[in-house]
Amino acid sequence: MSKFVKPDHRQIASARVVAAKQISPNFIRVTIAGEELDSIRPMGFDQWFRMFFPQPGQEELKLPSSASAFWFAQWKLMSKDSRPNVRNYTIREMRRAGSGTFGDTTEIDIDFAVHGDLGPASAWAAKAAAGDEVAILDEGLIYNPVADVDWQLLVGEESALPAVVGILNSAPADLRAEVFIEVADPEDIQEVSGVGEGVNVRWLVREDADARPGILALDTVKNADLPSGSCYAFVAGESELATSLRRHLVNDRNVPKSNIAFTGYWKFGRASA
Ligand SMILES: Cc1cc2nc3c(=O)[nH]c(=O)nc-3n(C[C@H](O)[C@H](O)[C@H](O)COP(=O)(O)OP(=O)(O)OC[C@H]3O[C@@H](n4cnc5c(N)ncnc54)[C@H](O)[C@@H]3O)c2cc1C
Repeated sequence: MSKFVKPDHRQIASARVVAAKQISPNFIRVTIAGEELDSIRPMGFDQWFRMFFPQPGQEELKLPSSASAFWFAQWKLMSKDSRPNVRNYTIREMRRAGSGTFGDTTEIDIDFAVHGDLGPASAWAAKAAAGDEVAILDEGLIYNPVADVDWQLLVGEESALPAVVGILNSAPADLRAEVFIEVADPEDIQEVSGVGEGVNVRWLVREDADARPGILALDTVKNADLPSGSCYAFVAGESELATSLRRHLVNDRNVPKSNIAFTGYWKFGRASA
């Protein structure tokens, strides 16, 4: 079985921003829409995508023509000045054509955990306005739980909030899960509705504004009293959280490596591309 759940169809789908709103101190929700988004099959959970967006000052969004694995080689071959920026994001919510909030075409909400002008994606989200051009390439799911485990552990900091909340929103009602989500500010906590009684969501708020994101979640899970029985773990966010928590789960909690999906979404002090 593949580690990931890949989409059955891949296309670089162009879209435009239809709304952008600061929803809490550290989150901006950007909604994109367009007919080409109809090509994306909603898979729920942590469905993620590559987002292509212009560099500052670029008038035109030039895109790779290939949606296969060659897109990256094509993108690399474009000159640094003419190629678009590309970063990874999660579908926070998708509304099919006809059931949209802003128009008749398919809409996707993206929740950006913003960090000022430190990166091009964060800076883009802060200035996003209706009409801005983007394109996305669906990448499917990383979350792919092994069958018949007793419970699940879901852990992330703010960049993985959309993924963890998406997993909870798509999960069966009888899911047993311990969930840890770290945010920078109490007002960044989002309401998670419709989860079953077996789901225990713990929001962790960083006290220290300069602390490395993810360390609070890492330390809290390390010291937590967790259920016994077999476990599947999904850990995502800053790379130290992902790699150190995996090490802890394998070495100290006897979780098989094959039962852990751990993804460094970004690396402290280093740009993604
Ligand atoms: C599968 C996947 C799904 C993702 N989904 C989301 C999502 O839905 N929402 C979301 O906000 N992020 C998400 N991310 C994380 C996002 O791709 C990274 O945070 C990305 O680096 C942001 O790009 P940037 O251009 O702003 O910064 P970059 O150019 O990559 O980095 C510039 C600087 O900013 C720092 N930095 C990057 N990200 C953060 C951060 N989150 N907080 C503080 N400092 C940061 C870097 O360490 C670096 O010093 C996802 C990543 C993956 C792999």
